[in-house]
Amino acid sequence: MSTPLRLNFVQSATRADQLPESLAEVAFVGRSNVGKSALINALANRKQLARVSNTPGRTQLINLFEIEGSRDDLGTLVDLPGYGFAKASKSIKRDWPEMIEGYILERDNLAMVFVLVDGAIGPTNLDTQMLDWLRYNGVPHTVVATKLDKVKSSKRATRKKELAAGCQLDIGDIVWASSAKGDGIDQLRSLVRVWVG
Ligand code: GDP
Repeated sequence: MSTPLRLNFVQSATRADQLPESLAEVAFVGRSNVGKSALINALANRKQLARVSNTPGRTQLINLFEIEGSRDDLGTLVDLPGYGFAKASKSIKRDWPEMIEGYILERDNLAMVFVLVDGAIGPTNLDTQMLDWLRYNGVPHTVVATKLDKVKSSKRATRKKELAAGCQLDIGDIVWASSAKGDGIDQLRSLVRVWVG
């Protein structure tokens, strides 16, 4: 097991211009309920850093965490609001794309956007729209398929092929993870360290 990321919560915001500047930054984005909070908690090996499930309050904001290094701060990790939250108010639904897209386009030092796709479900329309938008704007991104443990071992090879095809990517481009079982967590920690290092 690799060393957990040391994440300190810094600030929540509704717009990128409310956030402090950062040297290097990675962001996590995905449909609400995709497992983003659980994944960020797993990366940090903490239980309650990002909230898991049914706590829409903080997950509707841009949350910034600094990543502590052994000597200096390495950079920042940003937890973007989950899209497609069914119970969200109309105003929140209207503001979401602007919040996420504004943040992504405005952050100068954003090195990588990790796009989470539910591995048990596959890419939804909202996921493919997000990927198309990132491609159109030339934003560096990596797809992370979550909840690997929910896919039966006998179905994994097929599911990996289908999910990659659904995202218009090769199988090897996708990082598969399970916050519940720990798969892929080491790899993701390394990737985050590479991008903020
Ligand atoms: P978020 O809305 O994207 O932050 O999603 P959460 O992290 O709150 O997770 C949504 C639901 O999926 C919760 O019930 C989690 O317990 C569950 N979940 C998250 N990650 C995993 C995983 O790796 N495996 C399984 N089986 N369930 C998961």
